[in-house]
Amino acid sequence: MDRPTSLSDTGTVQNYVGGEWHTPDGSDGQDVVNPATSERLARVAFSSNVDIDVAVRTAAEAFEEWSARPVEERIQPLFELKRLLEEHHDELAELLVREHGKTRGEAAGEIRRGIENVEVACGIPSMMQGGTLLNAAPQIDESAVRKPLGVFAAVTPFNFPAMIPLWFLPYAVATGNSFILKPSEQAPLVAQRIFELIDRAGFPDGAVQLVNGGVNTVNALLEHDGIEGISFVGSTPVAREIYETSAANGKRVQAQGGAKNHIVVTETADLDFAADKTVSSSFACAGERCLANDVAVVEEAVYDDFVDRVVSMADAQVVGSGLDADTDIGALITPEHEQRVRNYIETGVSEGAELLLDGRDVTVDGYEDGNFLGPTLFGDVTTDMVIAHEELFGPVLGLMRAGDIDEAIDVLNRSDFGNAASLFTGRGADARKFRHQTDIGNLGINAGTAAPMAFFHFGGRNDSFFGDLHAQGEDMIHFYTDKTIYIERWPGA
Ligand code: NAD
Repeated sequence: MDRPTSLSDTGTVQNYVGGEWHTPDGSDGQDVVNPATSERLARVAFSSNVDIDVAVRTAAEAFEEWSARPVEERIQPLFELKRLLEEHHDELAELLVREHGKTRGEAAGEIRRGIENVEVACGIPSMMQGGTLLNAAPQIDESAVRKPLGVFAAVTPFNFPAMIPLWFLPYAVATGNSFILKPSEQAPLVAQRIFELIDRAGFPDGAVQLVNGGVNTVNALLEHDGIEGISFVGSTPVAREIYETSAANGKRVQAQGGAKNHIVVTETADLDFAADKTVSSSFACAGERCLANDVAVVEEAVYDDFVDRVVSMADAQVVGSGLDADTDIGALITPEHEQRVRNYIETGVSEGAELLLDGRDVTVDGYEDGNFLGPTLFGDVTTDMVIAHEELFGPVLGLMRAGDIDEAIDVLNRSDFGNAASLFTGRGADARKFRHQTDIGNLGINAGTAAPMAFFHFGGRNDSFFGDLHAQGEDMIHFYTDKTIYIERWPGA
């Protein structure tokens, strides 16, 4: 593949500010590495406080003109961006595989989910409307209108580096704000390529900007007076910190954190179907998904039958390079993260869980330097075990026994997290209990991965979410606008 024009001569990822590419001023940085091969793909330099100040000032200047444009004009660049993303879909997916390690199919699905958010934001002329009440009081008509606020920023994680920026960017600009993205320093290349397309989509200079960096860059964004609000997606400790700091600095904030998701399988479930969906939910993207279900709570009566099915299906998963067509499980993001997951497997063994399938000895011919782990299954996991309640973020599934649906729901509700859960059942009464009694933000019933479409918000509760307005859909319109009330009287009318 040709080097993107947005890389500097030294192969450094550049910022996109004021409609131009700039090498960040900061001296720190790190390499961007292909997780399947350990090949260096580029270098990412970390933006300094000065870089951030310039980006925020530029965005604030652009806001004056952009927010005053008719809404129909504001959505035209989004239609063009959708067209460009479709045209470059396969190339973006391949770049995503190279920098992240996921499979081509997973990368294609991710790009599709991102495009769906661009499509939804094209409906802003309807979605952003306020309300009017004639004769709200004697001779008075009253209206509530939505107004954009200024400059917003989003800080995003490595695991969906194309889709998650698009949970925010299209809605921010369609509502009339300016927007700054700080992508993950571990996987910044696909966002950078998307910004090359943004550069061609017809946005005015400064309305949409990209700044690269790490922790200090994020802190500079949180501390800058010129930023109205912050969207964050990442791990729980960082989400909590971002929420607290942003709020203390007077900003709007939404911070989605980590997860520990469960599948419940009842005795009336279609076990083949449930096992198939469990395997794909747990092992897709090598388990590096905030919606991955990594504990299955199974009713005692079908526990052994379900375990047999899951073991044989998991054992058939092919581990390898995401570029190979028959790969089911790609590489983990870094050697350090791979080691972290290996440590969790050690912990599971020492805690006394039954190791039903051990993925630690996997080797991938031709990819000896890649960060690979095979599917790993633990049986007879209990709630007191570390592997039952901490986020593992790898291809590891624990199986737990439950007497009935009430006991299973109790296990789910004892988790500190509240991102997602799925139930497999043939009984409506179980489904109703699951909907009513779980304290979790995304629920799937006979669906393995509870991923909301772009026109719904992305749920999340407890330690999985800090804030009130979520990513995607209508919540984004509320996050990116403030409501003004007009009270009007015309004597004599
Ligand atoms: P991370 O928290 O390490 O990093 C996320 C972003 O925060 C990156 O851009 C990074 O540069 C920045 N960052 C990291 N440490 C920081 C600090 N101390 N101060 C300020 N900024 C900091 O997360 P990750 O490893 O990139 O992503 C994986 C995590 O994201 C998992 O926990 C996963 O569950 C979670 N996630 C959640 C959702 C959701 O919707 N709830 C979606 C995707 C991923």
